Amino acid sequence: AKLPKKFEKNRFNENICERNAPLQHHNQVLVEPLLFLNEYWTVMGDERRALAYSKAAATIKCLPFTVTTLTELDDLKGLGSGHCLKVIQETLERGHCQEVIVKRDSMKFQSLKILSSVYGIGPSLALKLHSNHGVSSVQDILKLWNQLALADERIKVGVTYYADLSTPVSCTLAKKIKGIVEYELSIIKDDFRIEIAGGFRRGKKNGHDVDILITYTTDGEEKGILSSLMKHLNHKGYILHWRLEKSSFDEEAVFTRSPDQISVMDHFEKSFCVFKCPLQGNEIPETERTIRIDVNEPFPSQEQRNWRAIRVDLIMVPKSQWAYALLGWTGSKLFMRMLRHYSNAHLQKTLNSHGLWDKRENKLIPAESEEDVFKNLGLSYKDPSHRNF
Ligand code: ATP
Ligand code: MN
Ligand code: MN
Repeated sequence: AKLPKKFEKNRFNENICERNAPLQHHNQVLVEPLLFLNEYWTVMGDERRALAYSKAAATIKCLPFTVTTLTELDDLKGLGSGHCLKVIQETLERGHCQEVIVKRDSMKFQSLKILSSVYGIGPSLALKLHSNHGVSSVQDILKLWNQLALADERIKVGVTYYADLSTPVSCTLAKKIKGIVEYELSIIKDDFRIEIAGGFRRGKKNGHDVDILITYTTDGEEKGILSSLMKHLNHKGYILHWRLEKSSFDEEAVFTRSPDQISVMDHFEKSFCVFKCPLQGNEIPETERTIRIDVNEPFPSQEQRNWRAIRVDLIMVPKSQWAYALLGWTGSKLFMRMLRHYSNAHLQKTLNSHGLWDKRENKLIPAESEEDVFKNLGLSYKDPSHRNF
């Protein structure tokens, strides 16, 4: 196919933050191997290589036409060094990429992929478990449970509810969780705002967790609410596990760090939870889906449960930081990374989930809404559905 007249390469290259990355795009076949290689290197612990593939995939996702020959990609920014192009070329010519097939079958990759998918286990611990203890599966972790002496409480939870936590969360269940939180909040104090962020806000039908942001009408009103909320939820039996993180926001520290040290982690008060989400009759899974795992606290022995475990992030946001927090927690991760880089390199401003800091004037730039944030960055507003980089 010819390039549509409308596609202007220069404009596409001008500012990658202005590109639109929809969920449904024109190049599924090409993006797949690139996303696989991103996953492969993430799991193998090489973030730098993973990022290169993630960026290349994002560039392809944003193209408004289906690529048929490599020349259509000449001079496009974001496709990285030669290797991504080699993967693309081979996929165009053969319909698949040999490297992907080989890497997909790698035993080490398969083991690390499973291990790092357990809540509480990251790529480096996964590698340690695999290399030092020959662990390759969740069953292996169970077999060696006492010997491994894993101190992090989250891992026990991650293993116990592994089947549930590795099952995608539907939009319907995400809304149900929001409803539960909303109800308990309304008992504590009125005039809050609650929003599902993350992938669901970008229009994804499934997610690995539910990200929920909460704020009140003025700064400070949110203080103390989250621990109260957790108490309420816990008493009602909605919580299997949670870890509360105190607010550590300090304007000075957050915004005046060295510019290359742009932190992804924010400083909001939050609760990383595993919910015990009640299910309706038709939502109850088939018996076999839930494997029973025994780490001190086994599931109740009946096969049919009327609940499932779901990962939920609850983030308490002071009102003045809401717009930036909503943007940050809506993601995607790569989109936020691109925005932070652009803001830092081209505007001399530091962007994070707390605000936008003007480094020359040494002051924060306020925003009421996401629209304001895009204005403050000199960018056109981008709907969440087009932030799927
Ligand atoms: P999924 O459907 O797999 O959950 P997601 O896009 O919602 O995909 P998350 O990992 O839930 O991915 O993260 C959502 C957004 O929140 C990301 O853009 C990320 O930048 C931000 N985020 C996630 N965890 C943190 C954290 N600990 N601190 C600050 N921001 C975070
Ligand atoms: Mn999420
Ligand atoms: Mn999350």
